[in-house]
Amino acid sequence: MAILPIVRVPDPLLKKISKPVNKVDDKLRSFMDDMLETMYDAPGIGLAAVQVGKLLRILVIDTSRGEEDPNPNFYINPEITWTSKDINIYNEGCLSVPEQYADIERPAECKVKFLDYSGDLQEIHATNLLATCIQHEMDHLNGIVFIDYLSKLKRGMYVRKVKKYTMEED
Ligand code: ZN
Repeated sequence: MAILPIVRVPDPLLKKISKPVNKVDDKLRSFMDDMLETMYDAPGIGLAAVQVGKLLRILVIDTSRGEEDPNPNFYINPEITWTSKDINIYNEGCLSVPEQYADIERPAECKVKFLDYSGDLQEIHATNLLATCIQHEMDHLNGIVFIDYLSKLKRGMYVRKVKKYTMEED
């Protein structure tokens, strides 16, 4: 496994639409293992393939916390088939927008259809943090980052902070 570099705003790659995966094979699984290792190393609870430079419709998510056993799940070609009318507000962050957080409103629950790590079709009903995380990561596949929901002024401020953070890190 390998830790991959994470793409940050304002990289134009993050605005691109990711393409569906044609085949779930060992080569793809090896890339997904790298995604998982990269996410754990960051650390984060969700990562989309575009965030490590590949425009493929793949997410990895693990919302287990603290003492809980790790519970990584891969979502290949995910599609949201239903969202609740109830809304949740969550203070979201993103590995492509390090150290920045904002309250974002999303449907509190959703159903999502996807292929799993083995290439089998699954459908789950997600609630709470998992529902938020799936919707946040799905946005990445469509070229949307959570700061795109903020005002232009606020978004610009966040991008400047990330640029500064990246410069200081180098
Ligand atoms: Zn993100």
